[in-house]
Amino acid sequence: MHMVSTHSLIACHDCDLLHRKHSLREGERATCSRCGAVLYQKKPDSLERTLILALTNLILFVLANVFPFMSFQLQGREQVTLLISGGIELFHQGFWQLAFLVIAVGVFFPLLKILGTLYVLIPLKFNRKIWRAQEVFRLVGALTPWAMMEVFMLGVIVAYVKLIDLATIVLGISLFSFAALIVVVALADSALDAEEVWERMESAQ
Ligand SMILES: [Zn+2]
Repeated sequence: MHMVSTHSLIACHDCDLLHRKHSLREGERATCSRCGAVLYQKKPDSLERTLILALTNLILFVLANVFPFMSFQLQGREQVTLLISGGIELFHQGFWQLAFLVIAVGVFFPLLKILGTLYVLIPLKFNRKIWRAQEVFRLVGALTPWAMMEVFMLGVIVAYVKLIDLATIVLGISLFSFAALIVVVALADSALDAEEVWERMESAQ
């Protein structure tokens, strides 16, 4: 018995007209029959490109967390900070809820998202099914709005701009890696074709 699930229907985001979904070939896109808006598309080499970008993200994440973020020189004293230092400092000052939030959105969620993406995509590349891949992929999707590295970055910049007059600030490798990470995560998000991943997970061995 073949059932038509809500999964196979899609509403146009511009005019709400319902369409039945068809599978597309690479590079094709489906448009609304009433208003012409793009409903969904099959991005070329989506899996490979997302995989390469996710691996790049992992490297950038490691660089961002291992190397100095900034160093301050004030009256002969130098203080080096890491990416996570801001969160730890908040914790020491008693703002533990804020510390938890900052570390979660700036470090923990992005890492979980990168690792989750690789966990799902690497076996799929070889057409293999891996334990709980669907649950992990669902989690990756749920994490996306919470991996707010740009908010974290903005907070750091605001905090440190005040110190410019007081101390000499040297920007570290971590800061540049983190800035690159924000860009490459956005590229990976746009390269990812979630529909294709779901289809491949269903047909993988
Ligand atoms: Zn439409």
